[in-house]
Amino acid sequence: MLNIAFIAHDRKKEEMVNFVTAYEPIFAGHQLYSTGTTGQRIMDQTNLSIHRFCSGPLGGDQQIGALVAQNEMDLIIFLRDPLMAQPHEPDIIALLRLCDVQGIPVATNVASAELLVRALARGDFAWRELVHKYKPETVE
Ligand code: PGA
Repeated sequence: MLNIAFIAHDRKKEEMVNFVTAYEPIFAGHQLYSTGTTGQRIMDQTNLSIHRFCSGPLGGDQQIGALVAQNEMDLIIFLRDPLMAQPHEPDIIALLRLCDVQGIPVATNVASAELLVRALARGDFAWRELVHKYKPETVE
């Protein structure tokens, strides 16, 4: 079971709900996280149970980033709005930076998300199970 996070900016939320609904059986086997509104929208339309953090502008990206920093997040689907300035742009950049620090697969549009979820279904994320198994107790 892997830790997967969903974040969608406002004009991408419908696309996110449609995407997660399409792959609901795959996501159902994992521990799911999200920012506040994104998670609520997904739970309203599916039978998935999602741990919701704060809304993105109120710190949700940073809360998900904290799990990334500890190498506990395995996959992030982050449907960003590239055409709208976000008040929490620094938090968005910080989250993506941490994904690069830890080498965490992150999709920022639905085409990439499709590829990652198919890889997930195929078992290509088995290496992340090993990361969890052999993770050191302390984080340096
Ligand atoms: P939300 O946060 O899911 O609470 O809307 C995401 C965002 O807009 O950054």
